Amino acid sequence: MNGISIDLYSDTITKPTPEMRKFMSEAEVGDEQQKEDPTVNALVQKVCELLEKEDAIFLPSGTMCNQVAFRVHCRPGDEILMDETAHARHYETGGPSALSGACIYPIQGKRGVFSPTQMEEALRPENNHFPRSRVVLVEQTSNLGGGTIWPIETIRNICITAHHRGLACHMDGARLLNAVVATGLTAAAYCLPFDSVWIDFSKGLGAPVGAALAGSREFIREAWRWKHQFGGAMRQAGIIAAGALYALHHNVERIAEDHENARILARGLAEIEGIDVEPIETNLIFFDVSGLHLTAQAFNDLLMERGVRVSILGKTRCRAVTHLDVSRSQVQEALKNIRALCKDLPKRKGGVLEL
Ligand SMILES: *Cc1c(COP(=O)(O)O)cnc(C)c1O
Repeated sequence: MNGISIDLYSDTITKPTPEMRKFMSEAEVGDEQQKEDPTVNALVQKVCELLEKEDAIFLPSGTMCNQVAFRVHCRPGDEILMDETAHARHYETGGPSALSGACIYPIQGKRGVFSPTQMEEALRPENNHFPRSRVVLVEQTSNLGGGTIWPIETIRNICITAHHRGLACHMDGARLLNAVVATGLTAAAYCLPFDSVWIDFSKGLGAPVGAALAGSREFIREAWRWKHQFGGAMRQAGIIAAGALYALHHNVERIAEDHENARILARGLAEIEGIDVEPIETNLIFFDVSGLHLTAQAFNDLLMERGVRVSILGKTRCRAVTHLDVSRSQVQEALKNIRALCKDLPKRKGGVLEL
């Protein structure tokens, strides 16, 4: 392969294990569009129990979960409130405007989390000049914010105010289960005040494909229309739903290991002069390399020569992610390589790598 032996690029890079593949290969299947795929139906049921919602829908990606939910909640000209760092704002190719005609109000939270007061200030007054505030989005955990966990009290207060003002509350729960494992609170407790919520199976859970969006029966009935329109209605999807089902049974509690590995990695990085590590709460470790006089790109290029990859999320900001496919010893190995890289740096000064 590309010479990368320790890949901290993202928790999306995990590959299905032989056990997961075996379970997938034996899945009972049917026509998903007709709701006749028993494995998809079992997954939907399991998600409803986990999140304590009336109904759910299986979709190919988390992006489609966000976009289908926006399409159900919004009419053209409506506004969706979200933190300025939100995935739906930066990484979904303008989906809210393209698919729902909705605009985004970016709120300047702290590490991806805004306060109930900030949300209240962002709400539009009743006036024909303004877009209509229609949805508030909470990203649990916040990705670009730093793997930050939204405190449950903050969530509750935001949703109370939002509902009072007639908004729908939507949770992007791509990494909700990371928050659950880190805090010991249940997924259902986090989901309770939301009208729509989704979880991703292809991130920390280690399944190859899929996400599930949940809500009331009525919400899911509408979501089915847009699943079809956006091309997300499938056929024998039980093959991939089986990976998700397997992941929910086997890969949730073990997320604690990813969090422990993240703490070890963060601690090690913090000891290196020139690397500035942001606080960590879950499996995402953000750090700045400007103190090494390197861009994030240059840092990663050098690191890849040593078989380790991180991702680049700013001029000098990097992200390392721990997941199912990095072990404790690989984390230690990665740290060793980063230390060695930093020690060798002075020899390379004067090259194109300096800021
Ligand atoms: C990855 C991610 C998504 C999109 O999920 P995909 O399954 O990659 O489409 C949405 N929101 C957040 C916070 C994410 O990290």
